[in-house]
Amino acid sequence: MTTLLDLFKTMEYGPAPESPAAVNAWLEEHGRKFGLFINNEWVTPKGAKYYSSYNPSTGDLLAETAQAEKKDVDAAVAAARAAFESWSQTPGVVRARYMYAIARNIQKHHRLLAVLESMDNGKPIRESRDVDVPLLARHFFYYAGWAQLMETELREYQSIGVIGQIIPWNFPLMMLAWKIAPAIAMGNTVVLKPASYTRMSALLFAEVVAEAGLPPGVINIITGSGKAGEMIVTHPDVDKIAFTGSTEIGRTLRHLTAGSGKKISLELGGKSPVVVFDDADLDSAVEGVVDAIWFNQGQVCCAGSRLIVQENVAPRFLQKLKTRMGHLRVGDSLDKAIDMGAIVDKSQWDTVDYWVKTGAKEGGNVFQPDIPLPTTGLFYKPTLITDLDPAASTVQEEIFGPVLVSLTFRTPEEAIALANNTRYGLGASVWSDNINLALDVASKIKAGAIWVNCHNVFDAAAGFGGYRESGFGREGGREGLFEYIRPKWMDRPQPDFTPPVEGKKSTWGETIPARPSRPESNRVNGHGTPQVDRTPKMYIGGKQVRPDGAYTLAVLDAKGKVIGQVGDGNRKDIRNAVEAAHAAHVAKPGWAMRHGYNRSQILYFIAENLDARNAEFVKRIVEMTGRRQKSAQAEVDAAVERLFTNAAYADKYGGTIQETTLRGITVAVNEPVGVIGIACPDEYPLLGFVSLMAPAIARGNTVVMVPSPRFPLSATDLYQVLDTSDVPDGVVNIVTGDRDHLVKTLVQHEDVDAVWYFGSAEGGYRVEYESAVNMKRTWVGYGLPRDWMDREQGEGHEFLHEATQVKNIWVPTGE
Ligand code: NDP
Repeated sequence: MTTLLDLFKTMEYGPAPESPAAVNAWLEEHGRKFGLFINNEWVTPKGAKYYSSYNPSTGDLLAETAQAEKKDVDAAVAAARAAFESWSQTPGVVRARYMYAIARNIQKHHRLLAVLESMDNGKPIRESRDVDVPLLARHFFYYAGWAQLMETELREYQSIGVIGQIIPWNFPLMMLAWKIAPAIAMGNTVVLKPASYTRMSALLFAEVVAEAGLPPGVINIITGSGKAGEMIVTHPDVDKIAFTGSTEIGRTLRHLTAGSGKKISLELGGKSPVVVFDDADLDSAVEGVVDAIWFNQGQVCCAGSRLIVQENVAPRFLQKLKTRMGHLRVGDSLDKAIDMGAIVDKSQWDTVDYWVKTGAKEGGNVFQPDIPLPTTGLFYKPTLITDLDPAASTVQEEIFGPVLVSLTFRTPEEAIALANNTRYGLGASVWSDNINLALDVASKIKAGAIWVNCHNVFDAAAGFGGYRESGFGREGGREGLFEYIRPKWMDRPQPDFTPPVEGKKSTWGETIPARPSRPESNRVNGHGTPQVDRTPKMYIGGKQVRPDGAYTLAVLDAKGKVIGQVGDGNRKDIRNAVEAAHAAHVAKPGWAMRHGYNRSQILYFIAENLDARNAEFVKRIVEMTGRRQKSAQAEVDAAVERLFTNAAYADKYGGTIQETTLRGITVAVNEPVGVIGIACPDEYPLLGFVSLMAPAIARGNTVVMVPSPRFPLSATDLYQVLDTSDVPDGVVNIVTGDRDHLVKTLVQHEDVDAVWYFGSAEGGYRVEYESAVNMKRTWVGYGLPRDWMDREQGEGHEFLHEATQVKNIWVPTGE
């Protein structure tokens, strides 16, 4: 007899199509042809070329959109610049009302936006309806709140100006919200370019904004190719670039903006691990993997595309996963009953297919379930590749499609090593019922978002962004605001340097300028006998070392008299110093793993020992710089004070609990960046050095310091202070010599995670340009004035922000 249960088992879902009628009516209203949205108006560029947008599920033409040219980009930037004058002066409480109106208007047009998004991108309507559009509204509500609070909560900051924003095709509306909402909340105006594959929803959004009454010019949307994107990026009147997309284009943009004074945030690719321990609820973990890799057909920057499962449960887990894959439904994006929609474009489909074939060639076992695919449209089966070597390119490279690779591990240490065996660091999930283990692993994986027993959970109240080659900067949360503000004391940075034509060979930092090594005048002490020679050395791995090249540089006083000789460092010295700093960082327990309390004690101790030798340092500064005693005394006192400030911050900047929509806890941890190379300014040789070193080490980084080349002796005196202050070996390393020559090696070094540079404008350009090698973070002064004696300019949040990167750990609670 057939039971009811048997009947259910054989029943199939029927199609449950969402109607495209409202979207088609909107497209028809526009004659299926769109211009650019500038100053709240549709502008039809004269003689423009047009580009066709198709629905990837059906292949149907949606509309034609304009290809912006230079004059169009100029017009959009000019509109944004004009609007900035008034928008930045509009009180935050008024900006908040506009943003609230936008959020409300998004909710009114929720369905239209969701259906258009699915038709344009190919993603399941279930996702655009329940994830993309709700998050779009949520971001405008959330950042309306920050507009409201800017004057009280961020009173020491100001708006930046015109922001150029370039977004990808995988989450067109969500990416737009992540970028536009914080930017306009902080009083900036925007020129945004959507990706060519998915231009439509940004254009509908433009109308939603205008309907909500936002003043003209605050948000401008222009469509065009990557060339138009480049025109935005290089436009002289754009103050900041926010980009999400491939690491390759991110690198190009880093090159294009180098030395310009433009801020830049890059949210790039990933190859995020999903780590499943044997004590995890395996059925939940299977559902987690489905969310991790088949959400949006795997076209997600933080897709859990590397499954790392404990060896003893791997066969059982993979079998469960394969069974589940056999129940996934792939089909038209407007069918409410599907799990996976279409791949965005044929070229992306080809890329995915190429990688699956490569996986097979690399020895992988490719599994695709026996499920039906629609006969038309760009559909791809969910795919699992097992038995690959961890070094296989399919395991290392971002595929950006519905393809999961799987590896196994035995111990937690091995799981962490595998998880971190990538040049990326965007997201990760950890699956275990042992909360101690899960949180321990979460703290050790190097990525910006770690989900415990969940994956791909997002909210406006928590920042998102990468470690390593996944980029830098955060979108979302309070931390996301700092991409869109500048300290109030700082003018718009306009470096006095014109970058050379891209690709032109540079000699910057190549050679050490020849400086005659002049003999020091014979010094005698008070008894008429020669003073005992005291040669300043370099300081690497806690040891005083001579320069590798055995050359020295004469240090002159203000009148040109030789007052000392310091080591003339070279590439080898920098490599040794980086090695020492790296070892101190990764040691068990490394500097970063020490308690803030312990680090603060050491910083206080440095301050104590520096103060004990106060008079000696004053004398040294007077001797080197020719400044008055009073001024040198003020500098030494300020340096001691700065050490105190940063000792205080060593245990007061750890992070926060984010108030997200997750039922559970979202913890933002301010983690150290890693190894930081720091080139110090010439002004205030001791204070500049201390102002940069102290926040870096207070927050758990290890450093390679390049002191002022003109006035290095206060830095070489300082290592004796460090030696007596319990600073562990390798935490602070000091290499003297030519600043640019040394920094060139630092910025090109793969084991250096960030470079801070306070030298010339040209040096600022080179540092930013070269940093693209591994997308390291940079902080440069462009040779612009900064008063190191002023507390506002020499310490505080700006420094701590540069010394940390935010990791958000999501922990759902409940049974
Ligand atoms: P791209 O990085 O090429 O494109 C992202 C955005 O940048 C698009 O708006 C694109 O415009 C624009 N762009 C392209 N070239 C330039 C340029 N020289 N200057 C300024 N802007 C430019 O990503 P794709 O869309 O081509 O995807 C390629 C790969 O990137 C994917 O396979 C995937 O691996 C990865 N990717 C990662 C994403 C992430 O979120 N991390 C998101 C999307 C892609 P246009 O569309 O007109 O070319």
